[in-house]
Amino acid sequence: MTTGHSIKVKHATKSYGALTALNGFSIDIKAEKFTVLLGPSGSGKSTLIRSIAGIEKIDSGSIFLGENEVNRGSINVAPEKRNLAMVFQDYALWPHLTAAENVAYALKRRKLDDHKVGKRVRDMLERVGLGEKGANYPHQLSGGEQQRVALARAIVARPALLLFDEPLSNLDADLRERLRIEIATLTRESGATALYITHDQSEAFALADRIGVLRSGSLEQYDTPENIYHNPSTPFVARFTGLGGTFVGHVVESAKSVVTVDLGGSFLQARTNEKFKKKDLVEVLLRPTASKFLTTNTKIGSTPNLLAGKVLDTAYRGRGYEHLVETKFGPISSVFDLKQRARGTNCIIEVDIQASMAFPLTKKVE
Ligand code: ADP
Repeated sequence: MTTGHSIKVKHATKSYGALTALNGFSIDIKAEKFTVLLGPSGSGKSTLIRSIAGIEKIDSGSIFLGENEVNRGSINVAPEKRNLAMVFQDYALWPHLTAAENVAYALKRRKLDDHKVGKRVRDMLERVGLGEKGANYPHQLSGGEQQRVALARAIVARPALLLFDEPLSNLDADLRERLRIEIATLTRESGATALYITHDQSEAFALADRIGVLRSGSLEQYDTPENIYHNPSTPFVARFTGLGGTFVGHVVESAKSVVTVDLGGSFLQARTNEKFKKKDLVEVLLRPTASKFLTTNTKIGSTPNLLAGKVLDTAYRGRGYEHLVETKFGPISSVFDLKQRARGTNCIIEVDIQASMAFPLTKKVE
């Protein structure tokens, strides 16, 4: 089994003309972890992963793979000397080589005899479920099969680092799920460190040991998936990883890690890491799982976390129904119930404090 690279990026900047792709980006990734970098389109993910691969060069800052500084100023180690392999969104197979030849190509620089190469290629193709397709050319393979060849090609040479640039984006949902599991399994078996970029939060949560959230070329939060979900450090991270509602109000009471917010006659209690004073303006962000229906004869009064509303929409989700509910203070989506509530029905919603997070609102809502 391979020993993975650690990755250290220090204050990396990269601009394309007036466009800043990396804006003082830093991260410290331990060896043998599966890290997913998650961010919206244009946040600098590709630029970063391409700089780590050596396909791009950063303008300032430095990149270490293990103990080796691979890029800083005039230091720029060639991609093939970085002991890594990359899987691209568009597969990037050699069209004139068969599946087996594409995989074997990755072993070209290893001084292995033909017999050994042949065996490793066959074993690897077998592992990705393409034992029978070694003689096919890329155009004779489906998109999913081509990406499996690319995965086999990346893993076969046992590099210390595997880089994935949105490898599932061109595949349809069912295949994406299966290939995601194969990537997770084979990468972890290989012992390599994995760095994977995506704009898809569900993919990030499913794959990662650690998630880094990117925003405008810098790292907003780097943490376990659980912490990213339960303790997002900023409203941006919370929004990008899934919300069921956003409310604005004033602080009426602030205790340790819990704040009570007046929305304008109804109250919400939410978790927070901030210290608030009375009357501070805050936004309360709800995770999609935060809200449930109570019986309509529930008295609201000034009890926090109870809101009156009306069902605006309902969608069947197999396990039950998700509802979009309008309240006087804003909409709440994804209110789940096994029973369907008809559009237009009045309802009472209870908001779970554990899935509600309060942030200061000093500037306009992002
Ligand atoms: P992401 O992968 O998160 O979508 P990118 O790293 O591709 O982000 O892009 C970051 C920013 O840099 C974007 O504004 C993008 O338009 C710009 N950019 C990326 N590559 C180039 C390039 N080769 N030439 C000019 N601008 C680029």
